[in-house]
Amino acid sequence: MSLDSETVKIPTKNEKYNNILVVDDDRTVRMALVDAFTRENYEVEEANNGMQALNICKRHMPDLVLMDAVMPELDGFDACQMIRELPHGSDIPVLMITALDDEQSIVRAFSSGATDYVSKPINFSVIKQRVARLIKASKAEKDVKKLAYHDPLTSLPNRTYLKQQLAVTVNRAATENQRFAILFLDLDRFKMINDTLGHDAGDLLLKAVAERIRHCVRENDFVARLGGDEFTVVLENIASLDGASNVAEKICRSVARPFGFMQQKMFVTTSIGISIFPDDGEDVSALIKHADSAMFRAKEKRNDFCFYERGMEAEIAKRMKLEQELRKAIESDQLVLHYQPKIDFKTGELVGAEALVRWEHPLKGLVPPDVFISLAEESGLINPLTDWVLENVAVQIKRWLDLGHSLVLAVNLSVKDLVQEDLHIKLEDLIKRNGLPKNVLELEITESTLMDHQELMIKELNKNKKMGITVAVDDFGSGYSSLNYLKKLPVDVLKIDRSFISDIESDPSDSAIVAGIIALAKNLGMSTVAEGVETEPQRYILEQLGCDSFQGYLVSKPVPPELFAEQFLTPEKVI
Ligand code: C2E
Ligand code: CA
Ligand code: CA
Repeated sequence: MSLDSETVKIPTKNEKYNNILVVDDDRTVRMALVDAFTRENYEVEEANNGMQALNICKRHMPDLVLMDAVMPELDGFDACQMIRELPHGSDIPVLMITALDDEQSIVRAFSSGATDYVSKPINFSVIKQRVARLIKASKAEKDVKKLAYHDPLTSLPNRTYLKQQLAVTVNRAATENQRFAILFLDLDRFKMINDTLGHDAGDLLLKAVAERIRHCVRENDFVARLGGDEFTVVLENIASLDGASNVAEKICRSVARPFGFMQQKMFVTTSIGISIFPDDGEDVSALIKHADSAMFRAKEKRNDFCFYERGMEAEIAKRMKLEQELRKAIESDQLVLHYQPKIDFKTGELVGAEALVRWEHPLKGLVPPDVFISLAEESGLINPLTDWVLENVAVQIKRWLDLGHSLVLAVNLSVKDLVQEDLHIKLEDLIKRNGLPKNVLELEITESTLMDHQELMIKELNKNKKMGITVAVDDFGSGYSSLNYLKKLPVDVLKIDRSFISDIESDPSDSAIVAGIIALAKNLGMSTVAEGVETEPQRYILEQLGCDSFQGYLVSKPVPPELFAEQFLTPEKVI
């Protein structure tokens, strides 16, 4: 194929200059080439051997290299090969100048990675055409590559590009005996943001996150988006693990800062897994897999990073097994509900109970919720779990009401239950099917959940309110409720967090906080429940402070329904 058959437009003064590097040890030829290309409005740099050329390329990659094949110190063939190894060096055109009719040199030129060759003596009009054409082709190729190798939303390199880049990085690090780190990032709870605020907001957030990540790393560190809410950062040539952890920490902190757009503040955090070459793997797929495993561990805390350790896969497998078992447990009724009584301070009578789930594991015995609720939340099993709890609580309350008892049963909801669009429909159906009267079901929602999704909560909870379902703010005092917001919420009960109760006898600031919460609730027309009351002095202080009711080991641990009925629903308590 001849590259010279068609005339190519050469850049005029107004166009952006192309930058070419002329490498020749023959001063006369070099000067002639520099002169010819400068006249054509190229920006020309020169080098008189391969070594000099390589150093220039390391500092700044030109748009094209015009290289004499035979030179002292480092010849054109070796220099070409070495330029190809440099970052961005694989893409630029290298035009080799060979001696006339030298078959062997032409073969060598191509095998050392040259894009094309011209032979001596140099025909200046031919070489000008060829250079212009090669630069144009290389720019076109770059455009295509940009499309094929970049994520259109964030403009970051994509998965394909990352894999290619990592293969080069592994090679380089192995030959130069250097370590590099792969950071595998996954945003926490991104799906929920997308589902609740819409895809446009989700896209904006991803773009903003991409920008923040880029700002946390050096210019030549590689940042890619793998798809969805997953990003990867490659940190080359790190001296110690601290280098990687510093960057990871910086990214966590930067991403966690609020994002403001569409008249809204958004919050998102990221979890990061890190693997190190060659310590954690010597090939691309092992390194990516291990960084992913470490990310899984970081997810347990969220907004955190974690280095890969041997044995992590086993732990993940164990978690997966637990997840499968839990799925089965929900389907095959291995879950049970225990009930903890809620007692009124004034009358000393039972006013209700909180339903708390447990797992009757065939081998492990009774498993407490702390072990599996977070797993259920992460794996999406929380929705069927809550459905199961709601169905069982509805049947239970109906049975007790029919026996003539009067009480309210409270159910704990997770944030994932509340972002379901059909929650109120589900609840309405539940109430109808079981023939439940108003105000016998209470939903407990943690303060942090309410705070994180303000607009949504106001909307959702009002729908439930209409059905006569009351709402309690669980673990109140542990989050940062704004009073203004609290006023807008249809909340009936504040459950004072256990952490304020346990030291209420000895810590004056705790009793001051509790007194404050009670005063606040009274002002807003809400009632208060103290959680985790274990001693008589605690009960006494709370009563003095004007708290309405309490739960805690002082009266009873959560117990199975039969025992609960036996102890707290005696015939004389029937009204
Ligand atoms: P929570 O909603 O704050 O429930 C209160 C926890 O405190 C219960 O732990 C209860 O057994 C314990 N507790 C009650 N009185 C005392 C006391 O006097 N002293 C002490 N030290 N602890 C007391 P449990 O049953 O292990 O539940 C732990 C958490 O698991 C619950 O915290 C709740 O967040 C979650 N959970 C339990 N059941 C469900 C459920 O059905 N759905 C959801 N989404 N979460 C649940
Ligand atoms: Ca609760
Ligand atoms: Ca609680």
